[in-house]
Amino acid sequence: MNEQRQCGSCGMKSMERAILDVNRNFQGHTLTIPAVDGWHCPSCGEVEFASREEAERFFDAAQANQKEATRSQAEALSAPSEAAWD
Ligand SMILES: [Zn+2]
Repeated sequence: MNEQRQCGSCGMKSMERAILDVNRNFQGHTLTIPAVDGWHCPSCGEVEFASREEAERFFDAAQANQKEATRSQAEALSAPSEAAWD
């Protein structure tokens, strides 16, 4: 079976059901969510999740990554000020 769907984002009838790693940009950080089950558009990268659970997993992963990025930014900005005077 090689069913294809129309992409709601770019309109190409090229979306295919697959399990693929998805790259997304979140506030300047590139995040990869591995093995996303859904309809993937090879033209624009749009994803329609196969299920509500899959969508939730995706956004949980995005949120966890965002927290990690925020923490490392905070650490970078809060380096001991003494070091700057050496
Ligand atoms: Zn598309």
